[in-house]
Amino acid sequence: MIEKHLNTVPLWFFENLLKHREIYHFVSTRRGGFSNPPYDSLNLGFHVGDNPETVLRNRERLAMALGIPMDNFTTARQTHGSNVEIITKASRGCGAVDFDSAIDATDAMVTDTPGICLMVLQADCVPLLFFDLKKKVIGVAHAGWRGTVRMIAQNMVKVLKEKFNCLPDDILVGIGPSIGPCCYEVGSEVVVQTGEASQHKRKYIYETPDGKHYFNLWEANKMQLVHAGIPEKNMEIAGMCTYCNHTHFFSYRYQQRETGRFGVGIMLLDS
Ligand SMILES: [Zn+2]
Repeated sequence: MIEKHLNTVPLWFFENLLKHREIYHFVSTRRGGFSNPPYDSLNLGFHVGDNPETVLRNRERLAMALGIPMDNFTTARQTHGSNVEIITKASRGCGAVDFDSAIDATDAMVTDTPGICLMVLQADCVPLLFFDLKKKVIGVAHAGWRGTVRMIAQNMVKVLKEKFNCLPDDILVGIGPSIGPCCYEVGSEVVVQTGEASQHKRKYIYETPDGKHYFNLWEANKMQLVHAGIPEKNMEIAGMCTYCNHTHFFSYRYQQRETGRFGVGIMLLDS
């Protein structure tokens, strides 16, 4: 990924997506906004206890920096599930300026309609961006351990194949900043549920000599996508840990729950 400052707002971009002029995409950070601790400063989440007016100012700041109108943003009420919602023009702007109007109960959205900026919010969970460069379809997903165990990344590819006739070879993926394998210690309930969901657990859950377990969300999601047919060369993994880089990104675990959310979004442009 590379960092750029747009209108003094620091943002990160995937190099594999940046090459394509048919889309805009971004990964925001916690910097450049107006919120007070523990939401300092560019908190984009309306649902975390921050002042809604300040969140709105932060979102306007981001929209201005990107040159994307506020009405184009579409967000969801995320539930750590595996549902993938197809977004049409009628839903454009849902959740742009408040929480109530956000798309209900989904952690992934997909569209082939230009001018809809799909955005997921996170503070340790893995954001995933998808772009089919031939069919011109985009998607976003938010995958914590629950979403990962529930196979949200694979579900996204399934929807892209079945509803949009996408071929895995044409799908580019960006796997964004999240809590890394260095810091993501998990309890036995996670280890058990992950084991039930996959026989490949060993490749992404490792045990230290003193019996602690660490979950590699990046690898787990990458493996799901490889299984779904997406070539490894089509994927870019940010490899940035939100816990290690907690001054740059919001980390739910580092801040012991009370914190803001950064946004990861993608939009198709009018051709
Ligand atoms: Zn870390």
